[in-house]
Amino acid sequence: MQCRSSNDLIQFVTEAKSVIKNGKVADYIPALGRAKRDDFSIAIHYPDGNCISAGDIEKQFTLQSISKVISLALVLIDRGPDFVFERVGMEPTGDPFNSIAKLETMAPAKPLNPMINAGALVVTHMLKGNSVEERFSRLLTFIQELSNDPSVSYSTEVAYSEFETADLNRALCYFLKQHQIINEDVEQLLKLYTKQCAIEMNCLDLARIGMIFAMDGRDPLNGKQIIPIDIARICKTFMVTCGMYNSSGEFAIKVGIPAKSGVSGGIMGSVPGKFGIGIFGPALDEKGNSIAGIRLLELLSKNYNLSMF
Ligand code: GLU
Repeated sequence: MQCRSSNDLIQFVTEAKSVIKNGKVADYIPALGRAKRDDFSIAIHYPDGNCISAGDIEKQFTLQSISKVISLALVLIDRGPDFVFERVGMEPTGDPFNSIAKLETMAPAKPLNPMINAGALVVTHMLKGNSVEERFSRLLTFIQELSNDPSVSYSTEVAYSEFETADLNRALCYFLKQHQIINEDVEQLLKLYTKQCAIEMNCLDLARIGMIFAMDGRDPLNGKQIIPIDIARICKTFMVTCGMYNSSGEFAIKVGIPAKSGVSGGIMGSVPGKFGIGIFGPALDEKGNSIAGIRLLELLSKNYNLSMF
């Protein structure tokens, strides 16, 4: 699909880029440390199929935590909200995404929400299928349909790099297994989770997925309801309350749109009823959000009055 480069967007991107010098590329997953700090791009996808962009929107990046919203949507379709929310909660934590602290204080040790790692691991555990390969392939097919891009795949390099170093996530899994929140082999679950996080696409694909959420789960171009309305609503609510790590509250005040970010520097935004946004800028702030991405969304929200509040 063609995406038209927009002078207004280019201007906002230029302004937002000034903060990149204060950010840092994530390197706790070694393969992510090789990202170029100055990369920065955005695509906006409208329901009528139009798209505008700025920066190199061909650049591929891995979804990381952005995948958590999509796996949640699929698991809610697979199992229904009652089953899912018996095993993972609905409350924001205010803690970093990989924190183990609250798990020990909860009885049962049910993770507080599906956007923190502990909760996302439980969600991935609930993905239906007879093997890791089948569960991953179902998720990938779902993502290909949402992005309307059958070429979307995953980075074996990033998946392997995370799998080899994910000892904190391993610890979370063992804790969850000890408390019977999950009951599968931890290495198998981590294999699936790290592949999920390493699913790779560009800004345009991401903006299209954001657009589907913005349109209540319906693909306006072929009329198909890919995600049921009530499930799209649950996902967008989590994006507002816990999508931007432990600065979700500040983001809701300053930007006011459902959004989800990942440590690769991606941000998916959904402006309800209007359009989807895909951003890639790997220089992160101290909370783990793309530093220029946040600045850009603040500028867009202010200039185009995008806040839903
Ligand atoms: N794969 C990453 C992890 O589990 C995702 C983190 C993120 O993007 O917030 O640590």
